Amino acid sequence: MTSQISHWIDGRLTPGTSGRTSPVYNPATGVQTGEVHLANAADLAKAVASAKAAAAEWRRASLSKRTAVLFKFRELLHARTPELAAIITAEHGKVLSDAAGEIARGLENAEFACGVPHLLKGGFSEQAATGVDVYSIRQPLGVVAGITPFNFPAMVPLWMCANAIACGNAFILKPSEKDPSASLFLAQLWKDAGLPDGVFTVLQGDKEAVDGLLTHPDIAAVSFVGSTPIARYIYETGTANGKRVQALGGAKNHMVVLPDADIDMAADAAVSAAYGAAGERCMAISVAVAVGDAGDKLVEAIAARLPKLRIGDGSDPDSEMGPLITREHRDKVADYIRQGAEAGAAVVVDGRDNDLPTDGFFLGVTLLDHVTPDMSVYTDEIFGPVLCVVRAETYAEAVELVNKHEYGNGVAIYTRDGGAAREFQFEVEAGMVGVNVPIPVPVAYYAFGGWKASLFGDTHMYGPDGIHFYTRGKVVTSRWPDPATSTIDLGFPQTR
Ligand code: NAD
Repeated sequence: MTSQISHWIDGRLTPGTSGRTSPVYNPATGVQTGEVHLANAADLAKAVASAKAAAAEWRRASLSKRTAVLFKFRELLHARTPELAAIITAEHGKVLSDAAGEIARGLENAEFACGVPHLLKGGFSEQAATGVDVYSIRQPLGVVAGITPFNFPAMVPLWMCANAIACGNAFILKPSEKDPSASLFLAQLWKDAGLPDGVFTVLQGDKEAVDGLLTHPDIAAVSFVGSTPIARYIYETGTANGKRVQALGGAKNHMVVLPDADIDMAADAAVSAAYGAAGERCMAISVAVAVGDAGDKLVEAIAARLPKLRIGDGSDPDSEMGPLITREHRDKVADYIRQGAEAGAAVVVDGRDNDLPTDGFFLGVTLLDHVTPDMSVYTDEIFGPVLCVVRAETYAEAVELVNKHEYGNGVAIYTRDGGAAREFQFEVEAGMVGVNVPIPVPVAYYAFGGWKASLFGDTHMYGPDGIHFYTRGKVVTSRWPDPATSTIDLGFPQTR
């Protein structure tokens, strides 16, 4: 039995009209569990029309009404985390505790958005000129869209929708077609929290839906998270169509381990950050740069930890790592291991040698040593449970490696030397830096975003940047003079 996964338009489940669908699998069993409807132009038009009408009303809702909905949504999301986590695990494959973790990090964004009355406060200058006051306000954009990746089917939509809705916009979510059900659960929670119909919409689909959103005249802004080639396309197409766009792309996050680091702590962190969620995290550590004599010790310590990892169905509480998202992706990752070995990397642990269930999309964990910058396993984002170790003679060589890489999402340094860590955070070219923290995802009151090919646009996601992205500024200059003093003056207005 496969379930039908439809759109959510105007506050209710709405079947698509295209007749096109895409299969949804349980990656742990390899069994198809659903088919998601893929939107056509008619579905898109219906969704945007509903959102447009809702946006016009919602921007008039008082800040206290909006925050009441946000508080309720936060409470519901918190209370129903186990149900949502099970939905995520069933379609994504990540283990239940990890799914609950992504919900918790998404929830932070709802909590941040509860403070929107404070966040939207403008400035006021009394008597900017004689009898003249000037003040600034920020107003919603209207209908905004979010296009999200498979790897965080709850957290990434929450990065976007909580702030967009709090600011008074209507939000259309186009989730990944690989794990689309979490989006419908979120839609129901918004409705249960009292959000008016049409303010939160889910439009399921693929490229056709995305292209429709990017060119629709009633969409004011697009937030995107996904791979770099698509992020670049979204940014170029969206901005060419006059939209505000923030597009977050892929990553190759390095962890620099200095010789003075506590090797056991660094190895624990590398294993957790490289293989958690089977490496399908944009902040996963995929390269460890071992400096000087840290190299042999680090590789040995990581390798010793790997046989103990419990890989299995994410719904089994004993599993620490689940399968990959699809069979094709699993095979692509396995092929990268082949390429690395052929190019001369030392395969210390080979994830292809495993006795994992073959029906599911499982791959064991891989550790590659003596990786060099010319190898595809180093240049490309693999997005799987593969950790590359690159050896560097010096700290300077390690930083140069990081800074030369195409991507600049997250980076980490492991050291006991505060001076070295400070120099590192000063000169490293990445948007998010961890000092003895392997996955430095900023808390919701900062902002998330990489540098270089990891982000297109100038605004990072969520936090104050999110409030800025989902609003536009207006400055009001006002005076209430005695009409009797009125004169004609063709000179350019000056402050007096
Ligand atoms: P993806 O780029 O394949 O898909 C992302 C979204 O774009 C999906 O909704 C998909 O339907 C849509 N899409 C795919 N191909 C398209 C096309 N040709 N035209 C228009 N739309 C298209 O990414 P994914 O595989 O779902 O997610 C993994 C990627 O996301 C990785 O590269 C990962 O690093 C990245 N990611 C980045 C961040 C970040 O914050 N920088 C966070 C999470 C994931």
